Amino acid sequence: MNFATNHEGQLTIGGVVASQLVHTFQTPLYVYDVGAIRHQIRAFKQVFETAGVAYAVSYASKAFATIAMYEVAKAEAIHVDVVSGGELYTAQAAGFPMDKVSFHGNNKSKAELEQALDAGVGTIIVDNFHELDLLDELLKAAVGKQNVLIRVAPGISAHTHAYDQTGQTDSKFGFDLESGQADEAAKRILADDHLNLLGIHAHIGSQIFEVAGFEAVTQKLLAVLDHWHQQFGFIPKVLNVGGGFGIAYTKQDDPLPPEAFVQAIVTTLKTQSHGFNWPLPAVWIEPGRSIVGPAGYSLYTVGSRKDVPGLRPYVAVDGGMSDNIRPALYQAQYTAVVADHPTAQPTERVHLVGKYCESGDILIDYAPLPATHPGDVVAVFDTGAYGYSMASNYNRNPRPAVVFVENGQAQLVVTRETYADLIQHDQHYTAPSQSAPTSTATTVAKK
Ligand SMILES: *Cc1c(COP(=O)(O)O)cnc(C)c1O
Repeated sequence: MNFATNHEGQLTIGGVVASQLVHTFQTPLYVYDVGAIRHQIRAFKQVFETAGVAYAVSYASKAFATIAMYEVAKAEAIHVDVVSGGELYTAQAAGFPMDKVSFHGNNKSKAELEQALDAGVGTIIVDNFHELDLLDELLKAAVGKQNVLIRVAPGISAHTHAYDQTGQTDSKFGFDLESGQADEAAKRILADDHLNLLGIHAHIGSQIFEVAGFEAVTQKLLAVLDHWHQQFGFIPKVLNVGGGFGIAYTKQDDPLPPEAFVQAIVTTLKTQSHGFNWPLPAVWIEPGRSIVGPAGYSLYTVGSRKDVPGLRPYVAVDGGMSDNIRPALYQAQYTAVVADHPTAQPTERVHLVGKYCESGDILIDYAPLPATHPGDVVAVFDTGAYGYSMASNYNRNPRPAVVFVENGQAQLVVTRETYADLIQHDQHYTAPSQSAPTSTATTVAKK
């Protein structure tokens, strides 16, 4: 794991000492090194620029969706994916250019589609026939055409955690290829006066370490596009191969650099498109985790400790499963250090646990750490993706603040929730004075 230190050997993030950030902003705290976010975005772009392939890097904002993050994406001139009205609303509030937004989802509501059309989102990634029906209805009176991509389930599964696999045939996402549903969708959209088909989309999974799945999906989608060209005379503009490029969470993880995936995709595009009598489409990628994951740090303060003879010690911090659900949800692994001496030799392996009322509230099961004391600041690395965005208020704990750091300067970009925030939507309950008649109620066994 790479991290930076100052001359006293303390952990620094974006040029600021981690324990200084804690002094200013308290814990638990999410910290992002904005320079690392920009660096990764630019590395993705560079591969396409060097290869001379038209492209869009579309940040999958479900990994971390805040106004400040959409502002960074805007400044870096990339696209973003949104998957809900809430993400779209946040992007709008950030002034993100709507023509660079792609709207995803397997069950977009009519209200969400209406919001997307009103906002003028660049591309809707159509997932199913129900969505096509809703679009028909909403666009009846529209002038102009809405750009769409067809999402397909490509029948290619990436070798990764089962819950993270979305590309195989038995999936809730996308039109099925084998049974001809995707062809039917293409035919229907091409005949639609209000829709403009740009091309095709697939996303094969997450936290993928090998390029083979991306080579296979690129080849498969190209074949489908060529089939649509021959069948319908369609000229494809966009080949969207999704995201899912893996990152290292522990020393055992050994992924390729994220750019290597893009290189493999571009190479496959060039070698597999010979003989097509339509021009090369633009390649769109949708990295989420690889852009924000390694740029994010979670900072906690050590509190209680439990030692039982013959068992591993428990060291508890002031956060846990509500600010990072991934260990409990996916058995995700992380790496932690003590912020003021991150290079100190570990002297014990501990269960690094949170403060929540669940035995499964374990951040790192066997964390090698030097001796820790109450008040020490512990940093968990690579928490920038699916940490804050999956955070909850479990046990009625306020969600942490988020700080962006760049060039030695720290800026609060999400304030820490307060107890007042926790109850702001609660309403008092007043029991009705007379009980409702129960004569018409029948009790039915649940199952
Ligand atoms: C989640 C998702 C992504 C991003 O995946 P990462 O693993 O964060 O890179 C991209 N595209 C689609 C359609 C997704 O659902």
